[in-house]
Amino acid sequence: QGKRWAGVPGPAKIQEQGPKDSARIRTRFPPEPNGYLHIGHAKSIIINFGLARDYGGVCHLRFDDTNPEKEDQEYVDSIKDSVKWLGFDWKNEEKNYNNLYFASDYFDYMYEFAIALIKSGDAYIDEQSPEEMRQNRGTLTEPGTDSPYRNRPIEESLKLFQEMREGKHPNGSMALRAKINMQSPNINLRDPVIYRIRHAEHHRTGNKWPIYPMYTYAHPIEDALEGITHSICTLEFEDQRPFYDWLLEKLVELGLLKQPLPKQYEFSRLKVKHIVTSKRKLLQLVTEGLVNGWDDPRMPTLVGLRRRGYTPTALRLFIERLGVSKSDSNIDYSELEQALRDVLDPVAPRAVAVLDPIKLVITNLPENHEEACFATINPHNPELGKREFPLTRELWIERDDFQEVPQKKYFRLFPGNMVRLKYAYVVKCTGCIKNDQGEVTEVHVEYIPDTKSGTPGSDSVKVKGNITWVSTKYATSATVNLYDRLFTDPSPDSGNKNFLDYLNPNSLKQVSAWLEPGLDLTPGNQWQFERLGYFIVDPDSTPEKPILNRSVTLRDTWV
Ligand code: ATP
Ligand code: MG
Ligand code: MG
Repeated sequence: QGKRWAGVPGPAKIQEQGPKDSARIRTRFPPEPNGYLHIGHAKSIIINFGLARDYGGVCHLRFDDTNPEKEDQEYVDSIKDSVKWLGFDWKNEEKNYNNLYFASDYFDYMYEFAIALIKSGDAYIDEQSPEEMRQNRGTLTEPGTDSPYRNRPIEESLKLFQEMREGKHPNGSMALRAKINMQSPNINLRDPVIYRIRHAEHHRTGNKWPIYPMYTYAHPIEDALEGITHSICTLEFEDQRPFYDWLLEKLVELGLLKQPLPKQYEFSRLKVKHIVTSKRKLLQLVTEGLVNGWDDPRMPTLVGLRRRGYTPTALRLFIERLGVSKSDSNIDYSELEQALRDVLDPVAPRAVAVLDPIKLVITNLPENHEEACFATINPHNPELGKREFPLTRELWIERDDFQEVPQKKYFRLFPGNMVRLKYAYVVKCTGCIKNDQGEVTEVHVEYIPDTKSGTPGSDSVKVKGNITWVSTKYATSATVNLYDRLFTDPSPDSGNKNFLDYLNPNSLKQVSAWLEPGLDLTPGNQWQFERLGYFIVDPDSTPEKPILNRSVTLRDTWV
């Protein structure tokens, strides 16, 4: 793809020819392929692709792969998948364009531009050690000090840069710096390094280059070559904007680029409580086996959220509700969960499951009794109709729907009390059976005739409790993963904290559950299990061993 500009006369020409579409708004999403995308990236994707979509423009997917060491094809593939999953595309077959780019395809241009900057006296080779450079950079209150190499002859810098490119010098022995102003109040304008030596293999260019451009140098050039109009980035880059403009204007003066130039705009990063989004930390969770891979449903990665049951619509709703601004905020995780509930509630079919089962016996029903019960598939959507499941003498109910000695205001089952078996009869508790350890193993009830839901006399007996159940004979058994926050601290990586100290040991609980019979347990299918929350069938699920993940509870229960 990136090859399509190869052979054009010169970089300025690239801009003239431009991509094949005729969009006036052109944005880009520029991930570095050094990890999986996370919820923060979703914000950037939705802003960049969303803006292009709303204003009749296009958005480029550009892999910012100027940093050889940590990048990998695995990440390139997963990033593409995640962008598509969120509902966006960088290509359009009808309109015959494909805006997929790799920054590494521009290395030749970046190199040529650097030579031009040396020739015009706007860049020089500095042989100070990285430590010396840091020291001589000054601070926020102290100006920097000129490098002893700052005024070396242009010819000397050209020769050394050539040698750097030929691999003649070791890492860190010298670097190319822009010559701007060591006294500038903006530290980013104090002769920033634009090229450094890295004897490292790159996932696309292999061993072609022993030198690599710095991000701050590469990024404006990538934007300009692609004809980006709005280069939207997070607030940390605000102080880089003067260099962004300085560089591009220089390259126009040198005849290498053309107006109009891209403009940088900043917005605040998305921060969500109880998660970490640094790729380094996410990688550590994966490599140290603290989670089950990048797509563990507890991970804030897009692949993890997807496996958890988050839908693209829910993520877009979450981001849209937050809006785009420059104010920093630390968002409650519960806002993410609420967006998911709001999206699933009107569409998710209802079903019944019992997560912590105890047996209920309706002692006045015969052994082989079977009776159809009916429930709406989705109350917001009555045209979806009803589902049917059988009532039998023995049922599974939730263990906490029975208390032998009821606490105050407990309205569910206890000896002498009546509750409704949802979609079936009112039953009266007559007692329970216990094992040798004194644990309740069976709850006994008698059903009250003529109280069946949906029949004329159904509300002749008033009850305060309404409990869910499944037939022991017909229920499907499944493993269900119940999740909690991955970190116990709202800001596990702020200040000097070691985020691993705040890993929640109870973030995953696996239970054996019983599900309403007849559910289509194809991976990815979702339900609201009544009273319990929203659930999704895990990709590892099989018909023999169904596995479901709880996406979110029905109410915010986290304290
Ligand atoms: P990390 O620091 O974890 O490596 P990054 O910001 O360097 O993440 P990139 O792959 O460079 O990751 O990010 C691609 C784009 O996504 C960038 O434009 C970046 O600004 C944006 N982005 C990354 N994290 C967030 C976030 N939390 N909120 C909003 N945008 C983000
Ligand atoms: Mg980055
Ligand atoms: Mg970063």
